[in-house]
Amino acid sequence: MIAIVKERPAPGLTLKRVPVPRELGPHDVLVKVKRASICGTDVHIYNWDAWSQERIRPPQIDGHEFTGEVVSIGGDVSSVKVGDSVVSETHIPCQKCLQCRTGKMHICKNMQILGVHRDGVFAEYVRVPEVVLWKVDPSIPLEYASIMEPFGNAIHTALVTDLTGKNVLITGAGPIGVMAVAVAKVSGAAQVIVSEIKEFRKELARKMGADVIIDPTKEDLTKKVKAMTEDNGADVLLEMSGNTTAFKQGLDSLTNGAVVSLLGVFPGELSFDINGLFTFKGLTMYGITGRKMFETWQVATQLLKNKRIDLSPVVTHVLPAEKFEEGFDVMIRGVSGKVILEF
Ligand code: NAD
Ligand code: ZN
Repeated sequence: MIAIVKERPAPGLTLKRVPVPRELGPHDVLVKVKRASICGTDVHIYNWDAWSQERIRPPQIDGHEFTGEVVSIGGDVSSVKVGDSVVSETHIPCQKCLQCRTGKMHICKNMQILGVHRDGVFAEYVRVPEVVLWKVDPSIPLEYASIMEPFGNAIHTALVTDLTGKNVLITGAGPIGVMAVAVAKVSGAAQVIVSEIKEFRKELARKMGADVIIDPTKEDLTKKVKAMTEDNGADVLLEMSGNTTAFKQGLDSLTNGAVVSLLGVFPGELSFDINGLFTFKGLTMYGITGRKMFETWQVATQLLKNKRIDLSPVVTHVLPAEKFEEGFDVMIRGVSGKVILEF
């Protein structure tokens, strides 16, 4: 089969032929990958930055977001069968730790990640444990099924609190931020305000239904948000940039008693006025990791199956796997939404 592989501890990835993983453990499932999508994490691995050097052990197949069809199952697999259309959680829970045993598998203490700790999904076939698979309605187009994992990040982050009638500020209109725009809109937010600095991403936010898009390098975000909210500030902040300045500006634009849902991953430690920006404002903050297993997947499925959210603006590139370099290039330049690879 063909696969996109991190061959050596150096920048880049290689398309090459590798053996199909034929040997299945009792709880393993072999899936024919149909579509896979490139995530920011894959870009880190492609660039071979400090984060990936610490975690990735080449040679290893890259990728974790995908959809496909079950082609064979291990002896004890009972939740999926050959021919099922599936999507997959990328965080593999141990099912034994305290968190796994108490309904919090998404923050498993012994979490393994597809394409990080083991071979990933940028290949014609992938072997995954049964526990991560989620059957998907075949009526959902493959391109949208492929991005249900990051769509789930948007859902998990946005729905930590009731958004009905709330003024929601989203910092960072990357693929996840713009999907969160749509989730907030469908959940009855009063106004969805987006802070973003890149032109391509501002346009995506607009297409996904943002009410107002503010470029904080050109306008004062806090002043603008206050002007839109009777001088109060936003009720909810969805932090989806991973940028320190954006996060501080986001906190400063909130009304007292607001809720913060933090998805963005920052390059290092943060330093900010926690007394003034957080404690004395009486904020509540949620740290978001991944997606809830499998509540988030159920919400994602229902929103897509019933066409409550249209993800078409987010899917900006669909490329044959052989052209993966082109996909990484547009991702790195920030002139894409989600890039889908066909296997
Ligand atoms: P992305 O990098 O494509 O999007 C981030 C966006 O923020 C970009 O469009 C960028 O232009 C914008 N931005 C940067 N600086 C800004 C500023 N000062 N003001 C306003 N906007 C600014 O990322 P993505 O794939 O959409 O993911 C969003 C974030 O979530 C990233 O930080 C990613 O690492 C993180 N993430 C976290 C989890 C988790 O489980 N916690 C999972 C997936 C992604
Ligand atoms: Zn666990």
